[in-house]
Amino acid sequence: MDISLVIPVYNEAESLPALHTAIHEALKDVQQAWEIIFVDDGSTDTSLDVLKALAERDSAHVRVVALRRNFGQTAAIAAGIDNCAGDIVVLLDADLQNDPADIPMMLKKLDEGYDVVSGWRFNRQDTFITRTLPSRLANGLISWVTGVHLHDYGCTLKVYRREVLTGFRLYGEMHRFIPVYAHSVGAKILEVKVHHHPRKYGQTKYGLERTIKVLLDLFTVKFLVTYAKKPIYLFGGTGMFLILGSGALMLYLFIRRTLEHISVLGSPLFQLAVMFAIMGFQSILMGFIAELLVRTYHESQRKPTYMVRHFINFQNPPDGRNA
Ligand code: UDP
Ligand code: MG
Repeated sequence: MDISLVIPVYNEAESLPALHTAIHEALKDVQQAWEIIFVDDGSTDTSLDVLKALAERDSAHVRVVALRRNFGQTAAIAAGIDNCAGDIVVLLDADLQNDPADIPMMLKKLDEGYDVVSGWRFNRQDTFITRTLPSRLANGLISWVTGVHLHDYGCTLKVYRREVLTGFRLYGEMHRFIPVYAHSVGAKILEVKVHHHPRKYGQTKYGLERTIKVLLDLFTVKFLVTYAKKPIYLFGGTGMFLILGSGALMLYLFIRRTLEHISVLGSPLFQLAVMFAIMGFQSILMGFIAELLVRTYHESQRKPTYMVRHFINFQNPPDGRNA
């Protein structure tokens, strides 16, 4: 298998047949062998039935991974990547907002030597205030923090060489940070403009609250990519910074006490500010420790972040443990 399209599906029944047709139309001139891995993320509508019918009709191309319940888009994508056979992985949404017609152009860019070709929805068709604007700010921030400059992290339509997708697991809302992980293993990344359409059927599953999750995930990704191998640089560095800061404050208060006879205990607001700063730092650091614990938990027990109910059209289901 050369190319695997991985598509997370959560209540997208009406879009699926049109998506399937559009993919065939888009890939008809592509010479390599390709498959579509639809991951049904616990849909409560008829999506799974539609997928079963597609898998039956087009057994050469369509494979379905049905998750036991709704695990979220990131887990669904991870399930698809884990169970696909292609050397090239194409991620896209099921709702027809991404246009499969862009895929051949993106595949060509891989031939030019890139490992990741990232879609950029330059004419994004979503609500401005709750979606497009926060996303723009988030993209700027992510680019700045991670040093991987992309206009559109949130666009699912991206093409990856499989080898840059190994060596990390995806948690939370982290599928959008795959390019950052890929960059950390030396992938060459190109951004290309892709088409984006308004949602025709069904509803978006997200609103403004996702931006907050994305920002929190950004801290984690930055931490993992930069410090996971040497956390003491971060923890120790922060600790030393705090100790020095507190030493400087003590000194200042001591000097004021001796020269001007101003009581050290006399400025409660100041103490409150110091306390808040320390508490803030501590809670962020504890968040990191929690992230590490979550990873230890999953990885020491080889516990996946999703559970597969069954596989359709797989020659050897990857392994029975989880199906
Ligand atoms: N999705 C999923 N599980 C979820 C939420 C969404 O698999 O819990 C899928 C959804 O079916 C779609 C893609 O993820 O294929 C993107 O979702 P959506 O279109 O709602 O996000 P938006 O385009 O509005 O950012
Ligand atoms: Mg969408």
